[in-house]
Amino acid sequence: MTDKISNEQKYKYQEPAPVHKGEPNPFESMMARFDKAAEILNLEQGVYEYLQKPVKQVIVSIPIQMDNGEIKVFEGYRVIHDNILGPSKGGIRYSPDVTLDEVKALASWMTWKCAIANIPFGGAKGAVKCDPSKLSKVELEKITRRYTANLFSVFGPDTDIPAPDMNTNEQTMAWIMDTYSMHAQRTETAVVTGKPLIIGGSLGRVEATGRGVMITTLEALKKLGLSPEDVTVVVQGFGNVGSISAKLLKEQGCKIIGISDISGGYCNSNGIDIDSAIEYVKNNKTLEGGNFGEPVTNEELLELECDVLAPCAKEDQILEDNARNIKAKLIVEGANGPTSADADDILRDKGIMVIPDILANAGGVTVSYFEWVQNRLGYYWDIDDVNRRHDRMMREAFDNVYDTASRYKTTMRLGAYIYAIDKVSRTLLLRGIYG
Ligand code: GLU
Repeated sequence: MTDKISNEQKYKYQEPAPVHKGEPNPFESMMARFDKAAEILNLEQGVYEYLQKPVKQVIVSIPIQMDNGEIKVFEGYRVIHDNILGPSKGGIRYSPDVTLDEVKALASWMTWKCAIANIPFGGAKGAVKCDPSKLSKVELEKITRRYTANLFSVFGPDTDIPAPDMNTNEQTMAWIMDTYSMHAQRTETAVVTGKPLIIGGSLGRVEATGRGVMITTLEALKKLGLSPEDVTVVVQGFGNVGSISAKLLKEQGCKIIGISDISGGYCNSNGIDIDSAIEYVKNNKTLEGGNFGEPVTNEELLELECDVLAPCAKEDQILEDNARNIKAKLIVEGANGPTSADADDILRDKGIMVIPDILANAGGVTVSYFEWVQNRLGYYWDIDDVNRRHDRMMREAFDNVYDTASRYKTTMRLGAYIYAIDKVSRTLLLRGIYG
């Protein structure tokens, strides 16, 4: 084997990887639910077509000079699904295998999520195809700044407001805020949310998605006639969403008997000490090698005997193949799209209640909205104010979805889609079509 690449190979055009190789596709998954809800609502054909497609899809090329002096070109995306309820809102993810289809699905999910959370935003999502674990901090900063500069005319506090998502964090948002501000020649804090506190972030934003998972779980447990002290919980994923959901549910009296991350999972019927697991991950990056209980694979973790299962890792974890083996009574989707559309019916037939992603993880964008409001007011709330408003809005969102599902005699998932699509389509018709 030689590392030298012949010129012929070196310059050969590489076909982009197919969008999906027979694997579950998040856009198709989203559309399957959208279609069912549209049918129930008897949505006008033109409105269906409007809402089915994103209003804008931008692909940008991001050349940067790597630490070793080489130039490398990355690909970035920003998809605006719509601006019907207000400026579009949604995170940016860094991932080596992200596709435009995935970003399109995630952008539509943001539209439905904002409608359910009752916040005045449309939906968007962005991504850069890169592997952050293989990049230095300087390279990540360059990618972030060039991506932002390329999208300067798309982003804006009144047009499109990014936020963190998979593999991006407060530091990434600080670079976005600074790059945008440099181009605008003024400090524009409200252009991005999820910023560090010191430059206009909101108290409670880091914990918000996990807090929303906790609040919606408690509301669902009430409906199921279960009290938190009597339930066992398994959480898949131990990033920001998973770890905080586990911590807050434990504080409410639940027993967390299973946790996992990319390195694998652990189960412990006596309950896992979440605070020390969080501390462990701070020092060791992953759960690997920790003494939390019996090791299990991520697949086994999902099928553990428990009352509540919270998939907080990534898309397409609960599929047709394993949905049948799930034993939880309640699934709370902290991640976006963890359940494929095929698995929905199996879970319904098994009588498992599912709090869908567009409701369960809406706490994050709700506090993003608070951050944007505070930036525009120039006045900052204390943590009690943030949490009180968040908890009230999440309970209201839960009730709206629950009531819709009951009215249409359907699942919480379809109830959520019906509620959101009805609201967005009625707003669209009120605003009317220009042109
Ligand atoms: N990325 C988060 C989500 O999927 C937050 C988006 C935001 O705060 O704008 O909901």
